[in-house]
Formats: sequence, structure tokens, C-alpha cells
Amino acid sequence: MPATPPTSALRPRLPTPLQPVMDPRFEARDVRLLLKRDDLIHPDLPGNKYRKLALNLEQARAAGHRTLLTFGGAYSNHLRATAAAGRLLGFATVGVVRGDELADRPLNTSLAQCAADGMRLHFVDRSMYRQKADPAVLTGLQRATAAEDAYVIPEGGSNALAVQGCVALGAELRGRTDVAAVACGTGGTLAGLAAGLGPGQRALGIPVLKGGFLGPEIAGLQRAAFGVPGTNWSLDDRFHCGGYARTTAELTAFADDFEQRHGVPVERVYVAKLLYALTVLSEEGAFAPGTTVTAVITGTPSA
Ligand SMILES: *Cc1c(COP(=O)(O)O)cnc(C)c1O
Repeated sequence: MPATPPTSALRPRLPTPLQPVMDPRFEARDVRLLLKRDDLIHPDLPGNKYRKLALNLEQARAAGHRTLLTFGGAYSNHLRATAAAGRLLGFATVGVVRGDELADRPLNTSLAQCAADGMRLHFVDRSMYRQKADPAVLTGLQRATAAEDAYVIPEGGSNALAVQGCVALGAELRGRTDVAAVACGTGGTLAGLAAGLGPGQRALGIPVLKGGFLGPEIAGLQRAAFGVPGTNWSLDDRFHCGGYARTTAELTAFADDFEQRHGVPVERVYVAKLLYALTVLSEEGAFAPGTTVTAVITGTPSA
């Protein structure tokens, strides 16, 4: 079997475009809103999923791995991106999916796409899924999926290499904005983005999960990636709208309206909450007049 090609063979669009939008809810406060169109980085690995996987794919290739193994829920964008990367670069892929009850049902469109890209899906119950970082459990999963030699990527793809891969996102925004804002799942993207920003710039994270547990995890990711956590980022925990993949009528109306006004497709699990949060913050006067705020568009609506 020939060696896998370098990640550059994926031909990402870099740097991603920075798009101004005219929105009265920002203009009224003399705040400039820019969209960092990371959703345009790659058709099959959009947004932060490309940036988080790139150095991991390089590492897997350099170490001679032929298989990638990773974890996710039934609608995981990370699983889909990993499956696509495997197809495009010639890695076998294994997806460990949370929820053993899913094994007996038809695949949803997200998992069907993973399977179509050649990913072997392995469904596990929730208690086993929770223990997946335990070395004995992981070894068992690798044995059960005939992937003993796999390069293992954690859930959501957030490890030190993923965080380092997101530094370039911050660096692309140097000198271009005062605030760089991003929706957070694991917080890996925020951890890298913040580290790439220049002096005087700050990063703002909007967690889409409920719980308020993310601050220490992001500091831990920065420690793992850079040795020390940074001080130029903060989180605003008010905009999860009930939790992961939950929505409210207000959020849906906001996202529909934003799409209509600006002609930009709004991914609903993460990006809608980010844009909604920034609009509320602007209306609250949280940004001083003259501030430039950049919203990182981390993904595309799924079909
Ligand atoms: C995965 C994902 C995120 C979350 O990224 P983290 O690094 O886990 O915080 C944000 N937006 C979209 C569209 C995603 O798919």
C-alpha cells in the first residue's frame, strides 16, 4: 500500500475570507461586524474541523499509521470530517459512536455519510463511551475494531495538535479585529485561536453546551499545547439555549432572519448561537463604539 499523501493534498482555501456585514444592530452601536468564513476552507472538512485535523493527519502519516480511530455522537461533525479525510488521503477510519441502541436502526444522514466515506462504525453504550479515555477500555475498543495500530484522535478532535492547528486562525486575524468570537464545543478552537491573536486583541467563546465547565478545560488544552494558559480569552455562558443541539423559537427566528438579511447560511448547532450572542452583546452595549468584532463561521448547515 502506498504511503498516504501530505495534508496539503487536501488543498484547503487559506487564508479564509474575511467578510464585512452591514447589520443595523451593530451599526447602531458603532460596532463593525466581520465574518471569518472558515466554512469555506474545504467542502468536506469545513471550518475548524480542517484546522483541528491537519496536524493530526500529518502526525499520523509521519508515524506510518494507516488507520484513524476517533469518537463522536450520532451527529458529530468531527466524525464526518475524519471520515472524509480518510477517504481523500487514503487512511482507513474507525468511528466509535455513542449509543449502542443506534446499531439496530437505519443510519441517520450524518452517519450514512461517514459510512459512505468508508468509516467503520462501532456503536458502544453510554457507560463504555464515557470510559473511552481509560487505556484498558481504549485498547479493548481498538481490538474490537481491528484497529490496534490506529492513530487515535480524541472526541471532538481536541488534542494539543488540534489546538496548535487553530493558531493560524488567530494569526490570520492579527491586526484585523479587536474581538474574535467563536462558538465552543470542547473549546479546542478557542484555545488555539486565542493563542494566535496579536497584542491588544482578545478572543470570546460562546459555549453551546450547558454546564459552565469549559473554562478549566480550555486552560488545560492551552497548557497541553503551549505550556501555559493565556489570559486573552473569556467565555460567556448565557447563550447555550438549553444545551447541545437545543434551540428556542427565538434562536430559530434569529437564524432564519440572519440568513435572509445577509445571504450567509447559518449552521444551527454552533454558529447560530454565536451570532445570536454577539447581537445581544452589541445591543447590550458590551462592545465600545469603534470596536471591530469578528465572528468565526466554523461550519455549514448539514444537509
Ligand atoms: C465542532 C464544531 C465547533 C466546536 O469546536 P470546538 O473546538 O470543539 O470548540 C464549532 N462549530 C462547528 C460548526 C463545529 O462543527
